[in-house]
Amino acid sequence: MKLRKLDERFEKGVAATIAAPISEGGTMTREFTCELDGLVLRAENDEDLVAQVERHIAEAHAELVGKLSRDDILAKVGTKVEVD
Ligand SMILES: [Zn+2]
Repeated sequence: MKLRKLDERFEKGVAATIAAPISEGGTMTREFTCELDGLVLRAENDEDLVAQVERHIAEAHAELVGKLSRDDILAKVGTKVEVD
């Protein structure tokens, strides 16, 4: 009959290895969906998103240039949290 050896590894420094992980998952993303063609534009902040939307409108919907104000655009922006 064999004697089972106790593994003593766990008696050393266990507490030191327990640390709260820094939760870094999740990026706030602004999202705008163009109602005319369903194109989704995304950016990390309002400034970038408004710039992208204005550029898209200028390229794809020239008739709307000047009709959509920054506030109009922001009113349609949704904020999403994306987690990897
Ligand atoms: Zn569009």
